[in-house]
Amino acid sequence: MWIKTSGSLSENVFQLTTPVSTHMLVVGDASSLVDTGLACCVDRLSEELEKCLGEGQGPDLIFITHAHFDHVGGLPALRERFSGIEVLGSPASAELLRDESYSKSVFEKNKQCAEAMGLEFAVDEAAWTKGCQIDRVIGDGDGVDLGDGVEVKLISSPGHSADSVSYLVSPDAALAAGEAVGWYGGRDLVANCFSDSFAQYVTSLDRLSGLDLKILSFPHSGAITGELISKYFLNVRETADVFREQVKARMDQGELVDEVVAAFLSDWQTQNITPEGPFAEEQTETLREMVKAAAAASASTE
Ligand SMILES: [Zn+2]
Repeated sequence: MWIKTSGSLSENVFQLTTPVSTHMLVVGDASSLVDTGLACCVDRLSEELEKCLGEGQGPDLIFITHAHFDHVGGLPALRERFSGIEVLGSPASAELLRDESYSKSVFEKNKQCAEAMGLEFAVDEAAWTKGCQIDRVIGDGDGVDLGDGVEVKLISSPGHSADSVSYLVSPDAALAAGEAVGWYGGRDLVANCFSDSFAQYVTSLDRLSGLDLKILSFPHSGAITGELISKYFLNVRETADVFREQVKARMDQGELVDEVVAAFLSDWQTQNITPEGPFAEEQTETLREMVKAAAAASASTE
């Protein structure tokens, strides 16, 4: 089943939605949110949080899947609204966010998105950057006990980005993977997202598809459950290979990266494939990175 609306997904897992993102909220004795979406959507996300947790109540913890602008952008405003939140993520995400120029780009992209959506983003950049950080670093296989028998475990899943990780919730067998396993768009539409490394992306896909999952949550398109999960993994794995082969065939014929990108872009636009979620501006850049990653993978196996 494909669930796109807000509500309970299983005993300890809820789905929260904003116009451009979906989030897993895991509730044991303590509560934890996965990713924060865009800065300009925090009002909506807060309403959703309060509906589940009670008025004025925010999550105790926030888990970050990777440091892309639309996953960490809501951190400063959420910290401001709900006190005492602890933010957890991978060492690589923490390092990225500490980098001044990276953090500046995250700020700028959040500002641009707010403008594009006609929403307010009147914040002081220095204060914002201070809030957009990870407080506690956790590594591959580290579990965080939320009490009441609920655990959230980090699984390293690079490929989409070098810092991508997934979070597995037990006992619910629910996985929040950011874009580490691509993106589901309904029926047979799947979008791959290996902006950093094709080989690592495929390794992450294989590792995560081997988990016995009941729920797979996407950051922009809800969650899928049951049999749809294994079908999704097969489909996304296959389309990743097809993409790599198509890139190789075009490059073997002497096409340049830009030409390959142009060829795929019109295809993607007809099929409405947007790997970074609903952010059209990111589409060409992501595609360019994916073409380069696919070409690098082919070159290394020759
Ligand atoms: Zn991303």
